[in-house]
Amino acid sequence: GQPALHLWIEGMTGVDVAMGIEREHSMHDDMAKILITAGQIQERVRALGAQITADYRPLGDLLLVGVLKGCAMFMVDLARAIDMPLAMDFIATSSYGKTTESSGVVRMLKDLDTDIAGRHVVIVEDIIDSGLTLAYLRGHLLRRNPASLRICALLNKPSRRRADIPIDYLGFDIPNEFVVGYGLDFDEKYRNLPYIGVLHERIYHSTA
Ligand code: 5GP
Repeated sequence: GQPALHLWIEGMTGVDVAMGIEREHSMHDDMAKILITAGQIQERVRALGAQITADYRPLGDLLLVGVLKGCAMFMVDLARAIDMPLAMDFIATSSYGKTTESSGVVRMLKDLDTDIAGRHVVIVEDIIDSGLTLAYLRGHLLRRNPASLRICALLNKPSRRRADIPIDYLGFDIPNEFVVGYGLDFDEKYRNLPYIGVLHERIYHSTA
């Protein structure tokens, strides 16, 4: 209906949006608060990358296994912060049931393409909540006899833990709040926020 406005919005860059130039429908207005800024994330990811480089470069092998889809942003930033030749593969799971509570029953939607026997593997997760998803994945991968298996998680909600999971590399501990951004979604949206934050109450109620 309004070609001029349409072209103007099409021509905007992500930076314009982040700076609030498009004032009417910025997704940033949907946030109640920001828990971890983009800068804090990047600084922590660089440190994790340096730590993983120091640990795995002497071993001469590293396979990052990302857990889709939440790992997406973290996985690519982390991989670029690691200074050694590494391989990447992905796994996709879904919990049975629709509740926000993890049931512990995990369905494999996409398995690895890689044979991990004898490989040094690091699982890359967005967030560990109850820990039940990772407990399952860990068992699943350990049966294939990797040379080693460690876990790297961007976020951890320690107050919610039900399965005892060793986190070898951790970004941040966070309180028990539902967060979105940097790969984490609400209803498949908000993964593209460059920070970690909490949505306004009204957003949850406005979605069917
Ligand atoms: P767990 O099995 O540890 O309870 O569940 C972990 C999964 O639950 C995560 O990979 C993520 O998909 C989802 N999850 C847990 N907490 C949050 C949260 O605060 N925000 C979002 N977007 N997903 C979460």
